[in-house]
Amino acid sequence: AISLSGLTKSFGDTHVLRDIDLDIAPGERVVVIGPSGTGKSTLLRCLNFLDRPDAGTIRVGDLTVDAGRATKAQILALRRRTSFVFQNYALFANKTARQNITQALVTVKGQSQAQADARADTILKETGLSDKADSYPAALSGGQQQRVGIGRAMALDADLMLFDEPTSALDPEWVGEVLDLMRRVADKGQTMLIVTHEMQFAREIADRIIFMDAGRIVEQGPPADLLDNPQDPRTVSFLRRVG
Ligand code: ATP
Ligand code: MG
Repeated sequence: AISLSGLTKSFGDTHVLRDIDLDIAPGERVVVIGPSGTGKSTLLRCLNFLDRPDAGTIRVGDLTVDAGRATKAQILALRRRTSFVFQNYALFANKTARQNITQALVTVKGQSQAQADARADTILKETGLSDKADSYPAALSGGQQQRVGIGRAMALDADLMLFDEPTSALDPEWVGEVLDLMRRVADKGQTMLIVTHEMQFAREIADRIIFMDAGRIVEQGPPADLLDNPQDPRTVSFLRRVG
């Protein structure tokens, strides 16, 4: 299981995460929603130590990382267990689709190039990109680039996959294929923590939706409760705005 306790992060005088506690069960799909600037990306980034939390504890399975005194080895171990899908794909422009997938397998997971290549070919098939294996990102559509980004994260076989607005940089025509791939990832039982503005998708995929505001978890529950019967006035007004 995955558990965060007392996760806290400031940038200068800005308190971005205020004492966040969160438990995620194996196979659970949790969607985070909330206003802009509220700390959703920072929460995901702190979980992966892309941003270093100021305080708090992150537990993933038998790994416990205390923010105050995390070692390099612990951070690497955490990144093996939590993979990240970025809004802007964050692919290496000078690497092919296959190389983008194998890179972390070799550097983070310590696989041989041959092992990594074999795994990448399986992933390319699963993401429908076998014929694009040797293409560079610039030669791929936005949807294909994000499928590579998701494939790269899938390849790590992480305990938790983190998605930070994976479709919001896409032209509308490519959103559907990326959401379809995320549904397939979910169907495999992958534990997922997803920030998205796609409310219909959130309703469909989430076991639980968390509403965050100003660095805190304000309210959470199953989609039918949180979306259709929100209790906190901040949730009500946010949902009214996003429709
Ligand atoms: P959005 O919906 O717009 O993506 P968000 O909920 O993901 O918003 P964050 O990106 O987590 O919000 O940002 C939360 C706050 O932290 C904002 O006030 C932002 O300006 C600030 N912040 C985020 N990253 C940094 C940084 N590297 N340096 C300074 N301030 C930052
Ligand atoms: Mg964000």
